Amino acid sequence: MPETATALDLLRRHQLRITDARQDVLRCFIGRGFAMSHADLEALLADYDRVTLYRTLGTFEEHGIVHRVLDDSGATKYALCADGCTDHHHHDDHVHFKCELCGQTECLDAVHVPTLVLPLGYQATQVNVLIQGRCTRCLA
Ligand SMILES: [Zn+2]
Ligand SMILES: [Zn+2]
Ligand SMILES: [Zn+2]
Repeated sequence: MPETATALDLLRRHQLRITDARQDVLRCFIGRGFAMSHADLEALLADYDRVTLYRTLGTFEEHGIVHRVLDDSGATKYALCADGCTDHHHHDDHVHFKCELCGQTECLDAVHVPTLVLPLGYQATQVNVLIQGRCTRCLA
């Protein structure tokens, strides 16, 4: 994700109709830089009803703009995808980092999930790696 990507850029690149809700949700992700749950978005965007926010996130996930982030908070979180994701094809093979001090989870795009060899008879459809520790902001 280049720093300069704007909400409008992203919607155009993924050929999505431009709506206020889509732009506002994207701005929240771009401005914050870490994963957000539905509840986080609802708190930031009180003007939109829950259904609109659900639909918007669903559309973004489908079109390769956001991906799911599994952390231990119990809520599904979403984060912006890197440039490689397209419609129905996510390539988010990076690890996620959850800070035990500030509680935020972020994508470490440069750190790839290692290839794991499973026992015979097992087939992985999704691999999630969550690292917990202290983030650079909290350590500064
Ligand atoms: Zn993705
Ligand atoms: Zn932190
Ligand atoms: Zn991620």
